[in-house]
Amino acid sequence: MQFEDLGLDKRLLKTMELWGFSTPTDVQASAIPVVCAGKDLLASSKTGSGKTLAFLLPALQRVMRSKAFSRSGPRVVVLAPTRELAKQVYGELRKLLAGTQYKCMLILGGENFNDQAKEFRKDPAFIVATPGRLADHLEHRHLTLEGLELLILDEADRMLDLGFAPQLEAMNNAANHRRRQTLMFSATLDHQQVNEIAADMLKEPKRVAIGFVN
Ligand code: ADP
Ligand code: MG
Repeated sequence: MQFEDLGLDKRLLKTMELWGFSTPTDVQASAIPVVCAGKDLLASSKTGSGKTLAFLLPALQRVMRSKAFSRSGPRVVVLAPTRELAKQVYGELRKLLAGTQYKCMLILGGENFNDQAKEFRKDPAFIVATPGRLADHLEHRHLTLEGLELLILDEADRMLDLGFAPQLEAMNNAANHRRRQTLMFSATLDHQQVNEIAADMLKEPKRVAIGFVN
């Protein structure tokens, strides 16, 4: 399996070549075509298996290829359980977006709330955030999720273990667009709360489990 076989845009294939990534990892090979087809996804695979690009590549493809639903608010939101993990995803996204017209923003707990509120005025297409802080901004109406096209929950099991279920629900309700696509990544699919949240937030998801008996 090659990146060329996954239905990705030429510009993204070029980027992978520049990064020296010749073949997709298993989770990328399984997840990318599902996401490009517009389907919801519930995926698990172990740490270090390349999940970040499994969602960032098709997310960027979707944004490049389609017109925005709405003129304001992010088109893609990625939620991660901790500041550290959110920063890692953001770093990878920044590299992918270099040379494109799209802006991204990192929203973390523990940083100045009002400064962050002002940054939303730049209207970034992509937001990477920890759930607590983004939920606070939503509550203060600093942003709208009405135009959200893609909601991505990275390490969903850890977010739930950290008690973020109410914030995930709030995000789900604020971004209740019928064309919204939702992706959930988890270390395990054998997690009761993950399956509950998935039942609530995903529409007929395709399940992908790499390296586990499922
Ligand atoms: P996970 O989220 O599954 O723990 P990451 O997305 O953080 O894994 O990826 C782990 C490492 O693998 C990163 O350094 C990333 O740049 C690298 N990587 C991702 N995809 C590929 C690929 N197709 N070929 C080679 N390395 C890759
Ligand atoms: Mg990861």
